[in-house]
Amino acid sequence: MTLEEIWGKSLLKIEEKIGTNIFELWIKPIRPVQLKEQQFTLEVPNRFFKEWIEDYYPTLINETLEGILGRAVTLKYRIAEKQVAEIKRIEAKLESRKTRLANRGIYLNPKYTFENFITGQSNQFAQAAAKAVAEAPGRVYNPLFIYGGVGLGKTHLISAIGNSVIDSKQDCNMLYVPSEQFTNEVVSAVRHGKTEELKKKYRNVDLLLIDDIQFVENKMATQEELFYTINTLYEKQKQIVISSDRPPKEIKTITDRLRSRFSMGLIADIQPPEYETRVAIIHKKAAMERLNLKDDVINFIAAKVKTNVRELEGCLIRLGAQAALTGSPIDVEMAKAVLKDFIQDEKPVTTEQILKTVCEYFGLKMQDIKARKRTKEIALPRQIAMYLSKQLTGCSLNDIGKGMGGKDHATVIYACKQVEDRKAKDENFNRMVETLLRKIKP
Ligand code: ADP
Ligand code: MG
Repeated sequence: MTLEEIWGKSLLKIEEKIGTNIFELWIKPIRPVQLKEQQFTLEVPNRFFKEWIEDYYPTLINETLEGILGRAVTLKYRIAEKQVAEIKRIEAKLESRKTRLANRGIYLNPKYTFENFITGQSNQFAQAAAKAVAEAPGRVYNPLFIYGGVGLGKTHLISAIGNSVIDSKQDCNMLYVPSEQFTNEVVSAVRHGKTEELKKKYRNVDLLLIDDIQFVENKMATQEELFYTINTLYEKQKQIVISSDRPPKEIKTITDRLRSRFSMGLIADIQPPEYETRVAIIHKKAAMERLNLKDDVINFIAAKVKTNVRELEGCLIRLGAQAALTGSPIDVEMAKAVLKDFIQDEKPVTTEQILKTVCEYFGLKMQDIKARKRTKEIALPRQIAMYLSKQLTGCSLNDIGKGMGGKDHATVIYACKQVEDRKAKDENFNRMVETLLRKIKP
């Protein structure tokens, strides 16, 4: 028997013993590497796999292999090397950035990089503008004014400019300051007669990042200082980047001349992420947290947590903690239970509702789509309805199948795959499915 054959046989037995869910999550990603004398070496994606298996099924793989080989076997785990190297590279880069930031007294989160920022329709424009500014500070959009709701990535994006600059332009003198801190510094400088020092600090930089500018509302001395700071920097062609929770015209009590300075360069907004972007963000964050999530769980979270990226992160952290505490695999049921608090109280979407919307959209009758008919006009809408049900209802595949006129779960899986494949290839089709999604869940 080759190594692959031995492993293949073991997989079948292991799946039988522990069930498909846990198997898919924890066993399937393992690869056999070598069998040398007694020692069987396995490669796992990361150390959590090794720990998890050793904790919960310490003898399972061993005994299965022994059963197949008819002799004693000891196991050795190896962490996938490519990933180890990649993780080391990223961590080293992060550490070095952290040190450089600290040495220069810049309080940026070193993890907020362009690499870690997922883009989609909702934030593409702001991200592209930020990147352009990071590449040529003071040259393109000045000031760059980024606005958007809470937890949508404003701080991340303006920090990414700073982190990119500290990595690639060593001699660029920059400062990052939340506007509240700026206000405190102004107040303190005035009180202690140190305004000259403040001016020197802020008016001699190449790049000034000001976060959450809306807090200068009503603060006249701060606004005055800010106005002259921006003017001076602008005239010297030094870059200013500002973030805000609303556009300049909606920041009420600021002076007109300051407002007009904010609007002089480019104004870019960040909207709440659309479904696909949420899915991509969850993928990325889960990978960063070393969380192993199945697609149905990811889709579930993306469908439920809609407006705020920070909350998406909160969800993942809680799920990770729950999984670590209980040792159970993360499935949709667990996600539902753990995420109750995050999920806005809203009526659950039913398959009936989805069918109704899909039928209206395609001009079909409910009884047609539920019948056994297989004509093309009906088959496609039915597949789309199954796909939408899987995304939106959190029902089991069997229940979805039942709701669609007694189809089995394999039919539902097939339908979802068809729709996903076509969405990936066909932009018009993708848009149509998105439209339906929004009709059902605005
Ligand atoms: P804001 O400043 O707009 O309130 P933050 O920049 O603090 O929001 O973002 C909140 C969290 O969400 C951060 O941890 C950030 O990394 C994350 N985040 C926001 N948008 C994205 C994105 N597009 N891709 C990856 N992470 C994001
Ligand atoms: Mg912020």
